[in-house]
Amino acid sequence: MVTSFEHVRDNLAAAMEAIERAAGSVGRDPGEVRVVAVTKNHPPQAVRAAAQAGIRIVGENRVQEAMEKRRELQDLDVQWIMIGHLQRNKVRKALETFHQVHTVDSLELASSLNRVLMETPDARCPVLMEVNISGEASKHGVSPDLAQPLGEMILSRCERLDLRGLFGVGPLVDDQARIRASFASLRRLRDQLEAALGIHLPELSMGMSSDYPLAVMEGSTMVRLGTCLFGPRRGF
Ligand SMILES: *Cc1c(COP(=O)(O)O)cnc(C)c1O
Repeated sequence: MVTSFEHVRDNLAAAMEAIERAAGSVGRDPGEVRVVAVTKNHPPQAVRAAAQAGIRIVGENRVQEAMEKRRELQDLDVQWIMIGHLQRNKVRKALETFHQVHTVDSLELASSLNRVLMETPDARCPVLMEVNISGEASKHGVSPDLAQPLGEMILSRCERLDLRGLFGVGPLVDDQARIRASFASLRRLRDQLEAALGIHLPELSMGMSSDYPLAVMEGSTMVRLGTCLFGPRRGF
């Protein structure tokens, strides 16, 4: 586990170089890609080190863990983003803890978020829709063929949610071509939804430590990096 500032800084620099190479290989501007530091199962010092190294977005998978970290890190100027499966009974705490929720994958969850936001005048939350691009049954996310109906429902019924794009987890396989194809499918789905819904969906959160260069080649705007910044996680 890596929590010293120097290590995290060097790891981040290496990741930024890989992002630049991947973006360059397809003629993309690497400046379109932001790094989300995934700090689940890492201590608050890891988040602090990442912020010192220039990270501005922190992703956490569990509401309780993120709440505890935020309490210790109130001075940090970072955005906290929910990237784990969100249970409906945690929605209220999630909205107190996170600036954005990137794992909206059902109308029930979207409606719960909207209902809690409605209690506060003008409260809004940027969200991404999580799509199951791996085809693996154990993964969360709406199936691609239900993404458009869900998007329509969010737009028509959840006025306090700002739908900003899509979120996906690539398949856990070694076949690079298959992983890349799943990222390409998320980008195409985004393009289709933009046309069908008539809104701009600028964000594509895809790519983790093992596959982020492929995601960048396919249009990722947010790569979610845990292991390659902080080393292996505690307890796994
Ligand atoms: C844990 C996690 C990551 C980071 O994974 P690494 O392989 O450690 O980079 C990214 N996205 C999600 C949704 C995660 O749960």
